[in-house]
Amino acid sequence: MKKVAMLLSLLLLLATMAACGEAPASSGANTSSKTEASSSAAESSAAGSEETPASTAGGDVLIMATNAFFEPYEYYEGDNIVGIDAEIGAAIAKELGMEFQISDIEFDSIIPAIQSGKASMGMAGMTVTPDREKNVNFTKSYATGIQVVIVKEDSPIASIDDLEGKKIGVQQGTTGDLYCSDDYGEDAVTRYSKGTDAVMALLSGKVDCVVIDNEPAKSFVSQNEGLKILDTEYALEDYAIAIAKENTELLDKVNAALDKLITDGTVQDIVDKYIKAE
Ligand code: GLN
Repeated sequence: MKKVAMLLSLLLLLATMAACGEAPASSGANTSSKTEASSSAAESSAAGSEETPASTAGGDVLIMATNAFFEPYEYYEGDNIVGIDAEIGAAIAKELGMEFQISDIEFDSIIPAIQSGKASMGMAGMTVTPDREKNVNFTKSYATGIQVVIVKEDSPIASIDDLEGKKIGVQQGTTGDLYCSDDYGEDAVTRYSKGTDAVMALLSGKVDCVVIDNEPAKSFVSQNEGLKILDTEYALEDYAIAIAKENTELLDKVNAALDKLITDGTVQDIVDKYIKAE
């Protein structure tokens, strides 16, 4: 009898292992990284695949696509991605009783990743724009941003009016890129895949200024000597979470979770943790 029982449990174990083995692996192009808030259970869960899009697959893993070079919203602390979006994303997953996972990809791959179902949502200090709204739905806004201009301390550029004819560095696909390309022409704009790279180009004199969101701008300026942010603001924007057009169920759930986290002060606490009052 005992032997039969042992054999049965062995079979059960093998069956479970086989089932786990079938789980689709995370898609090759994306570097998946978990935040401190995510549990080890997320590791064994599917990180999105063609057959079982994250946005529709059973709904047990909330995969947040981001570009983790955007302090204080998302950035690396050792191997972990931390920041305002990372923590709000984790809090939303907790509210929804889902595992949480972060997929760190290029900024302009975030919307395609949501559309293909590789990610459940995009959270990357992402501005709501009419063009993006054609491709994804946005939740209610959870923060505001301002496009600002970073220049070298001794720069002749004193205000937005001086940008005409200057070389402008931006992060590819961001609103800084879109607005500057519209206002000053494609030729004036040099695109970099990360904000950090645009700032390095400014330091080495390849561009005359960088147009980027105010909070990352502050952290770039504090981490690099000889830079300053112009007083004049280029554009005011709302940040929200992007979700696939067809996944209105998740949109409703994330909006409800956001409502709760805004009302109970969690969102403000997270923001205050990363952005100190001046
Ligand atoms: N807020 C800007 C945008 O949505 C920049 C976001 C980012 O670089 N992560 O385009």
